Amino acid sequence: MSYDTYLKQANFIDGSWVGADGGETIDVINPATGEVIGTVPASGTDETRRAIAAAQEAFPGFSSMPLMERLDLLWKLHDALMDNRDTLGELLTVEQGKPLAEAKGEITIGAGYIRWFAEEARRAKGEIVPAPGNGRRILVTKHAVGVVGMITPWNFPSSMLARKVGPALAVGCTVVAKPATATPYSGLAWAALCEEVGFPKGAINILTGSAKKIGGAIMDDPRVRKVTFTGSTGVGKELIRQSADTVKKVSMELGGNAPFLVFDDADIDAAVQGAVVSKFRNAGQTCVCANRIYVQSGVYDEFVEKLKSETAKMKVGDGREDGVEQGPMIDMDAVEKVEELLSDAKEKGGKVILGGNRHEKGHSFFEPTIVSEATQDMRFSKEEIFGPLAPVFRFEDEQDAIDWANDTEFGLASYAYTRDIGRIWRLNEGLQYGMIGINSGLITTVEAPFGGVKESGLGKEGGSQGLEDYMDTKYTAVDF
Ligand code: ADP
Repeated sequence: MSYDTYLKQANFIDGSWVGADGGETIDVINPATGEVIGTVPASGTDETRRAIAAAQEAFPGFSSMPLMERLDLLWKLHDALMDNRDTLGELLTVEQGKPLAEAKGEITIGAGYIRWFAEEARRAKGEIVPAPGNGRRILVTKHAVGVVGMITPWNFPSSMLARKVGPALAVGCTVVAKPATATPYSGLAWAALCEEVGFPKGAINILTGSAKKIGGAIMDDPRVRKVTFTGSTGVGKELIRQSADTVKKVSMELGGNAPFLVFDDADIDAAVQGAVVSKFRNAGQTCVCANRIYVQSGVYDEFVEKLKSETAKMKVGDGREDGVEQGPMIDMDAVEKVEELLSDAKEKGGKVILGGNRHEKGHSFFEPTIVSEATQDMRFSKEEIFGPLAPVFRFEDEQDAIDWANDTEFGLASYAYTRDIGRIWRLNEGLQYGMIGINSGLITTVEAPFGGVKESGLGKEGGSQGLEDYMDTKYTAVDF
């Protein structure tokens, strides 16, 4: 089966596939080839308002559907994803560029989120709290927040929606979602799958087009009770500001600047493997990618040498080709950003020991790159790289490493390799991050709360906390 099955080139609003009002479209490009895959509607404010109206209309019926009937739809959605994993994976690779194995992995974890939230929703328990005097009961119950607006990025175009759509639908919220313009098809595929398994009309609406107009209409509308966003910190801050006028609940998964600490006592081979997977997955374009690799001086040379030889083995190419481990970057702007950070590092004494150039494959391909002798004054110590560039810094003391790791406004993921149990607890206390991977470079899993502190965001996705964020808590006093 070819990926065309789920190549939906229309908006899904109130149970129908429709174009933009004026019929305008936007081309969608395969970053590995530069070819146009298809088009999507260039929608704006009016289409968004109709989607919100449909979601609002569907909410009372959908939220009061018997729980097991609603969750049955989620189980079917999980199965539909898994049954179509190859097709959906290929679609994802074609629009986003990541290797097919990573794309299929993304579909699998997306299905995992749906299953997890279908399970968790059965345990969305309230509580009865002892009252201070006799003759009163205090009841605390949980209720779906209502219509949820979702805005998602291009780096995980399927699973970023999974962890928003999953909890929303599980508790009975209805959805208006806008996928990133660069990768709209994996987002629109969610509407096709929901339609296929029988979600009621209006429960999920997905539309493509102008971020400012669609985002603006979602943010302005008092009917939207929550907005959940994954993307850059700049846009996230703007959305938080816009949410003030209608006092919406907000969940924000924003930028990261992940430190990756390797101590003298680490298993160096494991640390190298962890660094490669954490740094180069999705061509370095994830918000939890290692951004700064800090290595203690006793193992610095050994680590750098091994990192270089492992990274040099990576096969770069079209994600659909066998054995490819790194695809293209999303676009030329992303390539230019990496080049800027690289030339800044070179000017300040960084040594490029691997890669450093645009890849001979052309388009937005970039070589896996390592810079050694990185220092705190280089721009990438403060800025998110979002590309296949690994800077390796040297440190002497544990406390310096922790201080440098924390010296950023971000606080999403962090990683450390050590076998010292005392140090593990000091890192747990000292690292100002929402997530810490000890002896692991890959920590995202449906069971755990994913999310950041400081300017990396608000709220959690996954875990039981990821369900809580889609519910309001109501208190009822009953006197007798
Ligand atoms: P990224 O670097 O991942 O592209 P962005 O924050 O630019 O991060 O984009 C993430 C999502 O936010 C995309 O769907 C994008 O279209 C959308 N977006 C960008 N600007 C705005 C805006 N001003 N209002 C609402 N959504 C926006």
